[in-house]
Amino acid sequence: MPQTTFSGNPLNRAAHKRRDKIWIAKQLANPKSLILPLWKEQPLIIGKNKPQLGFIHPGLLNIPKNHNPILLGLNAQNHAHFALALPNAPNPEENGPLAGLGHFDDLRNLALQAALPPADLAIAAQARALLLWTRSARFCGYCAHPLRSEEAGYKKICEECGAEIFPRADPVVIMLATLNDKAFLGRQKTFPPGFYSAPAGFVEPGESLEEAVRRELWEEARLSVKTEEILYHASQPWPYPHSLMIGCAARAEKENFYLDGEELEEARWFSKDELRQMIRPEGCAINDKIFRAPPKMAIAYDLIQNFLQKN
Ligand SMILES: [Zn+2]
Repeated sequence: MPQTTFSGNPLNRAAHKRRDKIWIAKQLANPKSLILPLWKEQPLIIGKNKPQLGFIHPGLLNIPKNHNPILLGLNAQNHAHFALALPNAPNPEENGPLAGLGHFDDLRNLALQAALPPADLAIAAQARALLLWTRSARFCGYCAHPLRSEEAGYKKICEECGAEIFPRADPVVIMLATLNDKAFLGRQKTFPPGFYSAPAGFVEPGESLEEAVRRELWEEARLSVKTEEILYHASQPWPYPHSLMIGCAARAEKENFYLDGEELEEARWFSKDELRQMIRPEGCAINDKIFRAPPKMAIAYDLIQNFLQKN
């Protein structure tokens, strides 16, 4: 199994410690604990020559009383790691205790440029996904009462009706349909020019992964695949906002496809030779047009690589 970008988190999530409020309070006061501040969902980055996540010690921050940091886990030395969302204003790069320490950067750009070690990307993805979930889960879906955060950020409780709500990871299937020496890629209107990727879509309630793969390929391109020939490849945490990409390979029954223009703007079957060129940064020229495949950070890249390595 390849290790996809945003996976490989080295922290021990220490789920058994989350309920221990005294232990959590002690860790938040422990000078050896580490807190990752995020501003506008972007993690603090320190170190100009060798950038890394800007974990700071608790004493450096005044944590507001109603602001509960989320426990990310323990490192090998058993030091607790937390994530904390900073208010939008003032700008913490210029004001307050973090001014001049580093800068806040977009996680997708950091991953695209491989600007951080893989372990740091995975920790930042965990922090981002949990902070986005906690922001979206503020009111009870049953009775609309405000929710209270519990278990170091991993649970919300409704004091009105007793509902318990847990962090979500939304499953998305992404699949490379192939036939003989060719693979099917398409592009959405929002993609950069010349950029093609494997079709993807959310798994719907009451559906298996295989059924979701078959349905999505049919909806997006009227491509038929046999459920029993769908193979799981690997998965990828995708913190936009808190999805899990499930990479699959599927064998199409024939090349004919049809686009209704709703999801895919254009699509095409690409030969292995074309795909080998498309995964290079310069792309592949076909009939005077440049075609590009997803970058290394995306699981679609792994799916294409896996197909290319097969005879
Ligand atoms: Zn409720």
